[in-house]
Amino acid sequence: MSEQLIIALSKGRILNDTLPLLAAAGIEPVDDPERSRKLVLDTSRPEVKLVVLRATDVPTYVQYGAADLGVAGKDVLMEHGGADLYEPLDLGIARCRLMVAGFPEAQHRPGTLRVATKFVNITRRYFAEQGRQIETIKLYGSMELAPIAGLADLIVDLVDTGRTLEANGLVPLEHIADISSRMVVNRASMKLKHRPIKEFLARLQQSLAQD
Ligand code: AMP
Repeated sequence: MSEQLIIALSKGRILNDTLPLLAAAGIEPVDDPERSRKLVLDTSRPEVKLVVLRATDVPTYVQYGAADLGVAGKDVLMEHGGADLYEPLDLGIARCRLMVAGFPEAQHRPGTLRVATKFVNITRRYFAEQGRQIETIKLYGSMELAPIAGLADLIVDLVDTGRTLEANGLVPLEHIADISSRMVVNRASMKLKHRPIKEFLARLQQSLAQD
């Protein structure tokens, strides 16, 4: 019997872009992942199972080997810290930018700036590297509201078209990183299941090259 591979996928917009890539690499879920209530999904390949997780949980599952591979945004990986993960493939999907945003000139206010974000680790690192003192405020959603409501001077958030910022009178101020989704692999799995993982990555790479 061939070795089992468990692939962790991020729910939401990344999932929609990931499924066609997996299909091109010969892996299709038997049940619709958007509708199924199953937590472990069978695929067209009996040895490959999918788990669909909250994006922020994907690196954790792969780090501990509960999943052999995972698809996660670079933002999530940077925030997680990437310990014990290989990142062999940029899938080039769910592209966006991680930005500092706020009202125009907000970053030049005197005193310690308050920055609202769900990416507190990235935010602390970014401002610390520049020697700028800030206070981070952890939020779980609707970051754009924080400057409007007077909760924070700045936000750190993902920006795609920029429409959400614009609709709320905010502007992108500083570029932190370009973001796209990556395939990550558990280090032990890479050694113990080298062949099936190499084959899978090669098939994925091939389907990416044909795009
Ligand atoms: P936009 O208005 O197109 O700039 O999109 C910004 C909103 O979509 C923000 O609330 C972001 O958090 C979210 N967003 C943009 N791109 C992504 C992405 N690749 N993954 C997850 N959320 C995103």
